[in-house]
Amino acid sequence: MSSALSHLECGRCGTRYDADVPQNLCTCGRPLLARYDLGRVTVTPAEVAARPPDLWRYRELLPVRDPGNVVTLGEGMTPLVPVPRFGVRAGVLDLLVKDEALLPTGSFKARGAAVGVSRAHELGITRITMPTNGNAGAAWATYAARAGMEALVVAPALAPAFTRAEAVLAGARVHVVDGLIADAGRLAAQAVERGWFSTATLREPYRVEGKKTMGIEIAEQLGWRLPDVIVYPTGGGVGLIGIRKALDELRELGWISGPLPRLVAVQATGCAPIVRAFESGAETADPWPADQARTAAFGINVAGTLGDFLVLDAVRDSGGTAVAVPDDEIMAAQAECAASDGMLMCPEGAATLAAVRRLRSGGWLSGDERVVVLNTGAAANYADTLPMPPPALLSPDAVLPG
Ligand SMILES: *Cc1c(COP(=O)(O)O)cnc(C)c1O
Ligand SMILES: [Zn+2]
Repeated sequence: MSSALSHLECGRCGTRYDADVPQNLCTCGRPLLARYDLGRVTVTPAEVAARPPDLWRYRELLPVRDPGNVVTLGEGMTPLVPVPRFGVRAGVLDLLVKDEALLPTGSFKARGAAVGVSRAHELGITRITMPTNGNAGAAWATYAARAGMEALVVAPALAPAFTRAEAVLAGARVHVVDGLIADAGRLAAQAVERGWFSTATLREPYRVEGKKTMGIEIAEQLGWRLPDVIVYPTGGGVGLIGIRKALDELRELGWISGPLPRLVAVQATGCAPIVRAFESGAETADPWPADQARTAAFGINVAGTLGDFLVLDAVRDSGGTAVAVPDDEIMAAQAECAASDGMLMCPEGAATLAAVRRLRSGGWLSGDERVVVLNTGAAANYADTLPMPPPALLSPDAVLPG
């Protein structure tokens, strides 16, 4: 059997939609989620274990109906790497990093792009567009190239130039806006009016499905025994929504049982709309004032998201929490974990470590839990934005100090 996809359903109002034609948002303005006929899934975890180590090993739980439409660069099955020295310093001994830096284009955006582009290709879409803070543009442009599709990307000028260069290399039309991600979104919307299909965050249903595989992999890699806590750097929240969806589907399949992990949404104090809403008990999040949204962790510099209610639900239903960390703690955690454990993380990933430290010192974590944090991308993607003093130049005949 291949995909068990049955239909699409609005995450907010529950309205059903046909999954076999291109769809964007519900008429209520909220995201559509893919639903599966899980009763028809007969594959077992043991059979899955024998399949190739990429995310398509979960094909029954993914939306692509004909395997011939899969557009792949080998994405998936990233390692779960312990960071024991950082863990000791933070007071959380069983601390694991799911290292998404190893994916094509160096970020977990490759998961969403692989599944999103594959399904778009299957539905006959040939031109896609999206705003991006960098990593999404690189990933979707690359997979679009692989599929023979055209891609049009709009990025804020401050977003890392390296990821933009990758999108250019992959043949995408790349525009740069003197503004923030929401401004890029408004420009990309013009392309949508001209017939380009929007693959912006949560505006099509399948990016979530790709990101969902992070949750399935964590479960499989731990022998279908879940960690106590999963910590995720939250921008649009797609990954967190996806991980929650994965856990729900695996439980319905009977592949996991017992208590689910507590899910933690991490944001930067410079842009923390979800954390603010969580703390105030709100069901949705008011957008962060766009002119005040600022963090070096560009992937989570997202002032407002269509999936706010889904993120807040996921956090609350799991007994999790939402926490904001300042940029200086993010950059300190990045440098510390690189030096202590050789784990190079993007600023967004490092934000989860800074959050673990805060949650432990505040007592939310006891220190006995197994904690998985997501390193959503490669440090190298931020080469041009990392704070790095210029080196002192030695003359070739200098005597090395020290
Ligand atoms: C996009 C991005 C995020 C945020 O992703 P969401 O799933 O939309 O919240 C986090 N980290 C990195 C590196 C990103 O590129
Ligand atoms: Zn709806």
